[in-house]
Amino acid sequence: MAVRVGVIGTGTIGRDHIRRLTRTLSGSRVVAVNDIDAGLAEKVAARLPGDVRTHGTADGLIADDAVDAVVVCSWGPAHAEQVLAAVAAGKPVFCEKPLATTRADCLRIVEAEVAAGRRLVRVGYMRRYDPAYRELKRVVDAGAIGAPLMMHCVHRNAGVPAFYEPDSTITDTAVHEMDVTRWMFGEEITTVTVLRGRRNRHSGDIDDPLLVLLQTESGILVDVEISVNIRYGYDIRCEVVGEDGTAALGDTAPVTVRLDRGITGRVPADYRERFAEAYDREFQSWLDELRSDLHGSGHTDHDGDRGPSAWDGYAASAVSDATLTAARTGSRIAVQLAPRPALYG
Ligand code: NAP
Repeated sequence: MAVRVGVIGTGTIGRDHIRRLTRTLSGSRVVAVNDIDAGLAEKVAARLPGDVRTHGTADGLIADDAVDAVVVCSWGPAHAEQVLAAVAAGKPVFCEKPLATTRADCLRIVEAEVAAGRRLVRVGYMRRYDPAYRELKRVVDAGAIGAPLMMHCVHRNAGVPAFYEPDSTITDTAVHEMDVTRWMFGEEITTVTVLRGRRNRHSGDIDDPLLVLLQTESGILVDVEISVNIRYGYDIRCEVVGEDGTAALGDTAPVTVRLDRGITGRVPADYRERFAEAYDREFQSWLDELRSDLHGSGHTDHDGDRGPSAWDGYAASAVSDATLTAARTGSRIAVQLAPRPALYG
């Protein structure tokens, strides 16, 4: 039986996820939508197959008996209350990153889930499902390049969305690398330093680019270039340096053309193009898990991984909080992490 999904936030990524749930993946049906812009939600609902309800509030959608599971795609500051409401209603909730925009709000979600006694929250750190990132992790885990010592990351966007604020370079963009670092090495990040340089002329009041330096529990150094207005396209790079060799994501252009003494290949326009397969896989894995929980079909994910949890959302936001302080003070800042509850063992 299909999982009946309600989607909160019908902006750019909300509509992309609705399309994938409706047209690409199996096992779900979008039955309700909500957006702060009611007219937009109505328009989105009208284009969907079947009878799709439009709710005036996120709480109304969460309380709807026809909704089995909730997808939160509103802007970051609205996430915490919407996820908490879903947990209070006992409904599984997939929340786009960041889980919340502060460490304190993420901790409230972790505490609510622990009090509920079961894991209901998934966070949209989709790079964990990207085939190239997974292969990179497999090589590192296999010990092929020796013990990892450093990781060089590049996160470049052609431009920023309308909701972007000066802190968003850290809370909305760099959080992906914070999650990737924790996942890649299976370690927490302990300290953060930030360097600002010459500002991109396209960046207005945003400090862009930024260089963020993370260090993990075992001492691995991770440098992250964040450039959010570099017009040429969306470019994500990652190289792990080990004791014996290095491993890096390949170039994402599927075809390169050599012509007239030149070489050309395509750079993705944005995250929807670069990570389309990762989003499909993360949602399919979530749906399979939900169907197993809701209908007892006995599914377990292919590698036993339950996907990014509320704890993962909390830990990334703890790093992002420390990074904001590091950017403000110019100092190296220690990440503050609460003890990890047994629920996330
Ligand atoms: P967006 O296009 O601006 O959509 C956000 C939606 O939330 C809009 O419809 C917006 O309405 C609505 N909204 C604004 N304030 C709200 C509130 N107080 N309560 C409820 N809804 C509200 O942004 P987006 O690019 O889709 O991003 C949405 C979320 O997805 C963000 O957290 C972002 O970080 C995340 N995201 C993740 C990825 C990824 O790679 N995993 C990629 C893109 C985005 P208005 O248009 O009327 O303001």
